[in-house]
Parts: sequence; C-alpha cells; structure tokens
Amino acid sequence: MIVAIDGPAGAGKSTVAKQLAARLGFRYLDTGAMYRALTWLALERAADLDDAEALGALAREHPISFEDEQHILIDGCDVSAEIREPRIDKVVSSVARHPQVREVMRERQRELGEHGNVVIEGRDIGTVVAPRAEVKVYLNANESERARRRIAERPGLAADALATDLRLRDERDSAQMRPAADAEQIDTTALTIDDVVARIEGLVRSRQPA
Ligand code: C5P
Repeated sequence: MIVAIDGPAGAGKSTVAKQLAARLGFRYLDTGAMYRALTWLALERAADLDDAEALGALAREHPISFEDEQHILIDGCDVSAEIREPRIDKVVSSVARHPQVREVMRERQRELGEHGNVVIEGRDIGTVVAPRAEVKVYLNANESERARRRIAERPGLAADALATDLRLRDERDSAQMRPAADAEQIDTTALTIDDVVARIEGLVRSRQPA
C-alpha cells in the first residue's frame, strides 16, 4: 500500500509521515530530501540554477539513495545534515521547478517506493508520482502557524527572514502544490501531531484488506 502525504512547508508532513510509518511498520520516503540533495550537489558544483538541461543531467548522473531511511546519499556523500541548511531552503525550489529535474526525480521516487508498504511525503505524490496511492492526504495549516513551526525547526534564524523565505518558496512551489481530487484534506493548524497521525492511521486501516 502507498500512503501519499502532500502539502506545503510547515504543514507538518515530515513529523506526521515519520510517526505514521513507524506506527504502521511501513517504509518512509522523503521526496523533499531528494530535491534538497540535488540542490546541495548543484551548489557544490557551482551549477547554473537556471540551466534546466544541466541540472536534469546532474540528477540523472547522480541517483539518490537512502541508508536507514534517515540518511540520504548523493555522489557518495551523506548529506543528511547539509540539506537542512538555510542556503538549501533558499534555492531548492529553483532547482525543483525544472521539468527535466522533476522527470528524473519522479522516476527515482517510483523506484524507491515500489516494494511493499510505504509512506511517501512530498508535493506531487498523490497527483503525479503515485496517482494510484490507496491513501492520499493533503496537509495544510495557516501561514503564521507554518512560519512558527519553521522557526522552531531553525533556531537562530531571524523570524521575519524565515517567513519571507517560506512565502517565496510557496510561490515557487505553487505549480506542484495542489491536492489530488481524491485526497483527504486536513488542516493541521489547531491539531496535535498525534491527532493527525491517528486520523490518517484510521484511513489506512479502513482501506487495508481485512
Ligand atoms: O518538503 P521539503 O520542504 O523538504 O521540500 C523541499 C523542496 O523540494 C520544496 O520546497 C519543493 O521545492 C521541492 N519538492 C518538490 N516536490 C516534492 C517534494 C519537494 O518540488 N515532491
């Protein structure tokens, strides 16, 4: 079974998806981390972030892999910590906007999500990567709550700069960010993580064969 969890930054996707996967005994795939890893490599190589062909080729030549689900590797490097740096937050959507990049990433995401039960987190999982996912969820939260959560994750950064970055990222990601017609939409603004996980777990259980 595939559980697709989509939504904007700060909607609670990662925390919820990880806990849900642990509770269900499903694998967990973080597709945002894949775009971040490619962005890390593009910055290492001082690639032109407007050059769609070059970035697509870079993605194809350096397939991303995971170790223990939490560690992400590209070009032989474990970049799990580096991909969470603000310099990556700032430009990842500029890399992810190119169709040439998305095509390679989506192919790899389908390969990685192929076997057995998995929770896949991203922006376009329910719509494009896994349109046949048995459970599709679109998480959202109001802008100030999403900014508040991001600030908690990135202590030391100025709140106004973070809020601006988030807004810019939303704008750039908007082409990829829409709920699938058959997705369950959950506003997490006033909900606890446990509430959200329990609600999705209920959906999964109701769709699992007896
Ligand atoms: O989820 P996360 O914030 O780590 O994603 C980082 C970025 O990767 C997003 O802002 C978006 O630009 C891109 N992304 C995407 N499609 C996905 C997952 C992430 O375009 N399925």
